[in-house]
This record gives sequence, C-alpha cells and structure tokens, in this order.
Amino acid sequence: MSEVEESSKTQFSTSIPTQNIEQQPPQSQQKNQSSSQKPKRRANVIGAGVSGLTTALLLQRNGYQTTILAEFFPGDLSIRYGSPWAGADWRSNVEMDDAQLQKFEAYSFKTLWKLSNVAPDAGIKIVTIYDYVDKKPKLRRDQPWFKKIVPNFKVLRKPHLPANCEFGVSYTTVSLNVPKYLRWLLNQFKESGGQTVNKRLAHIKEAFGPDIDVVVNCSGVSARTLGGVEDEAVYPTRGQTVVVWAPHVKSIVTKRSTVAGNYDITYLIPRDDGQVILGGTFQPNDYNSEPDEKVAREIIQKCDELCPELTHGKGIRSLEITSHNVGLRPSRKGGIRIETEYRKRDDGSEILVCHNYGHHSYGYTSSWGVSCEAFNLIETAFAKRQEFEVAFTNDNSKTDQMVEKSESKL
Ligand SMILES: Cc1cc2nc3c(=O)[nH]c(=O)nc-3n(C[C@H](O)[C@H](O)[C@H](O)COP(=O)(O)OP(=O)(O)OC[C@H]3O[C@@H](n4cnc5c(N)ncnc54)[C@H](O)[C@@H]3O)c2cc1C
Repeated sequence: MSEVEESSKTQFSTSIPTQNIEQQPPQSQQKNQSSSQKPKRRANVIGAGVSGLTTALLLQRNGYQTTILAEFFPGDLSIRYGSPWAGADWRSNVEMDDAQLQKFEAYSFKTLWKLSNVAPDAGIKIVTIYDYVDKKPKLRRDQPWFKKIVPNFKVLRKPHLPANCEFGVSYTTVSLNVPKYLRWLLNQFKESGGQTVNKRLAHIKEAFGPDIDVVVNCSGVSARTLGGVEDEAVYPTRGQTVVVWAPHVKSIVTKRSTVAGNYDITYLIPRDDGQVILGGTFQPNDYNSEPDEKVAREIIQKCDELCPELTHGKGIRSLEITSHNVGLRPSRKGGIRIETEYRKRDDGSEILVCHNYGHHSYGYTSSWGVSCEAFNLIETAFAKRQEFEVAFTNDNSKTDQMVEKSESKL
C-alpha cells in the first residue's frame, strides 16, 4: 500500500456543520453569543500552520477568545514548519471507503472555492487540473468519490494522455499561493480579535493556563516530540520542490507512478502570481532540510517532459528559478489525530484538549473540514460536561451512571 493510502485513514466522531462557517457561525455558537451575560470560553491553539490558523479562526469567530501559541508564524521558514512549503492544490487521494475524510475534503473544497470568489487577497486561484497515472488503477478511479463535487470532471483516454500514461482525469479545482494564504488566515484571525504568542513549548501543559478552557494541539510533525504528546505514530515525509517563474503555465499537471513499489509524483502547480511550484518527492522519515541538486534537476526534467510548455522547448536551462525548497509533511500511521481528551493541570484540575495533527499531504485539502470537526468535538465535550454537572446538582443518584457515560465517550 502506498504511503498516501496508508495515511488517509482517520478517527472521527461528529459531523461537520453545514453552514458557511467562514461567514456565519454554527448554530450552537449563535445561541452562545445571544446570551451576552455568558463569559466567552478561552482557547489556546498550539501551532500557526494551516491547521492551527484555520481552527483558531473558527474558534475566534465563533465565540472563543483564542490565542495562538507557536514557535513559527506565517512569514517564518523552518524545516519544523510544514505549511509554507506546500504546493498547494486541492487534489484528493482519499479511498472510496473513507467517508469521513471525503466529507471533510468536500467541505474544504466548497469553502476554498467560495473564498476564491469573496477573498481576492487570500491567494486562491481557480484552475484546471490534469491528473495522470502511469498504470490504470485496479480500483475504478474513473469514478472517484469527488466527481460530483468538482466542476467539469472528465475521464481522459488516449490520445488525450501523455506518453507512458494509461489513465487520467481533468476537472476544475483551486491552487493556493500558500505564503499569501497563511498570511490571510492570520490577518483574519487578528482582525477578529485573536491574540498570538511567539514561543516554543517544551510540554503541552505550558498551554494549560488557569483561565484557559480548551487547548487545541496543531503541532504538525512536532507532535512526535512535544512533551506530553510524544506521538510515535507521527513521522515526516520529506518533499523537495523547485519554484520557478512561469506565468504562461496556466493548469496544474500531475503524474503519479508506482516505480518498484515506491510512490512517485511529478507535479506543476501554478500560483496566482506567475510562480509555479515543481515537485516532487515523498521520502518517509527523512529530516534532511537541504535541497539535493541532483533531485532538483530530475524534478525539472520530469516536469518539462510532462508539460513541455514549461520551457517552450527552450530547454531547462532557460528556466528562471525562484527557490529550491524542502518541507516535511506531518504524516501519521493511522491518519489524522482528531479527538478530544481531558488532561490534568499541575493543581489537579481538568482541562479539555483537542488534538488536530497528522495531515500528511492533504493539510490544505482537508483543512476546513477537519477544523470544523475540531470545533464540533470541543462544543460536544463542553455540552456533555454541562449535562453531567446539571445531573450531578439535581440528582446525586445519577452521578455514577453519568461518569461512566462521559468517560466512555471522551
Ligand atoms: C512539498 C509539499 C507539498 C505539499 N503539497 C500539498 C498540497 O498540494 N495540498 C495539501 O493539502 N497539502 C500539501 N502538503 C501538506 C501540507 O503542507 C501539510 O499537511 C500542512 O501544512 C500541515 O499543517 P499543520 O498546520 O498541521 O503543521 P505545520 O504547518 O507544520 O505547523 C505546525 C505549527 O506548530 C508549531 N509548533 C509545533 N511544535 C511546537 C512547540 N513545541 N511549541 C510551539 N509551537 C510549536 C509550529 O511552530 C507551527 O506553527 C504539502 C507538503 C509539502 C512538504
């Protein structure tokens, strides 16, 4: 099984709200805001990658006074900060039987599509994608789960396929200029009253302030090393890319191959500013932050073969290279960790923690859906706690029953 397939399994519990969450709060929160006497809950979000920023924005816009605690913010570059290195496009690799992740990716697609219309400064561009594979897949990939979600879906057959490809699809999707998009998310968050603290946490409990109601852990690949989390299922998948100036490339082109059991992908993703990101590699457990010159040459060569308009037949030396990049995808055996638990502060009191990490190669593709899930899990946990407290006050005989019920569900 390819690594992409392996990481696309998820652990989910609640459904996402159907409202347009970036413009209108979910119903539960509308109720919350209407009772002006009720103090706002306070949230600390660890991480300012696409997962942390999206979750923090949702919380802040929906009644939580939210602070992002992070070592790196938009504008920073580090091998421990995956989001700035992404392509990024919305392209799904979810298996036909993973209904939850499909739901989250569908929701993200709709939100990103809408944002591309209403937020011109967010760096989201509508583009056509040509997605090819070398061997016709055994599973019926000509009927992918998302064919009804994306506009203009078509199956491509010979002669509309490049050399050495047996299958392909095309459709309309979105590409994101990630540095711009991350800055936009952060600005939206701050304009909504969100706070930021620039610090590196050695242990998750550093986020458990006495006045904090919930901590959301969006620490990406660092979930493996962050004290109190230390999730050994998390590992990096290195991706090397080359960014070039090529405003004449208007479409995303990708080719996936399976070479001796290894997953290999060649891709060109145009951004809204004339740059095109060329990729790439999938190297599990490789932390090397230095771009490899030979690999960079191979990437450019493969991209030129796949999309000759890249160099207009002038040869790869004619390309204007903007940067050589390396990023780590936050991969996780078992897929995304999206769940809540109660942890103890040093004084013995309890605090709600929601984990949201392990997004591998689909952090943008799933971002809005998974962040909504985090929001719903948090709201559900508070609602259950409230139910328990009411029952405890009203009828002590129900206490044992309620404890069992809450513990089994959290
Ligand atoms: C080459 C490449 C191409 C990609 N292409 C795509 C694509 O086309 N589409 C797509 O959907 N995805 C793509 N991805 C994947 C995507 O980039 C990731 O899934 C996503 O960025 C993960 O975001 P994150 O917020 O979970 O983690 P990160 O972006 O890594 O953010 C982690 C945050 O947590 C903070 N943090 C961690 N530990 C601590 C600590 N101890 N104290 C304080 N702060 C801490 C960090 O400072 C950072 O702010 C690509 C990735 C790569 C590398």
